[in-house]
Amino acid sequence: MDAVDRLRARELELRAQLSRLDADDAALRVDRSDATADDEHDPEGSTLSGEWQRVDALRASTRDELAQVATALARVDAGTYGVCERCGREIPAARMEVRPQATMCVACASVG
Ligand SMILES: [Zn+2]
Repeated sequence: MDAVDRLRARELELRAQLSRLDADDAALRVDRSDATADDEHDPEGSTLSGEWQRVDALRASTRDELAQVATALARVDAGTYGVCERCGREIPAARMEVRPQATMCVACASVG
């Protein structure tokens, strides 16, 4: 499987994960509306908001990675995939292997 196939597979995986998280989030909202509004003193309520935060954080990072994967796939279409967007050199295959959504070579990425 080459990097592009892996990117496409990853995109599907992330989309599936995102819709699971959306479902979790919806379920939590329903639970929450049943619970009393007093989070501070209701142990069940604070567990719920902790869970909600966890789902929220996970959703944010999934969206983030999905955006990176989408960018990488757009670069595949544009024919610039695997080329560092900063210095224009080819990104070493070993790096693309580890991080198929990478848009910069190690040197440029570490500069920030
Ligand atoms: Zn570079």
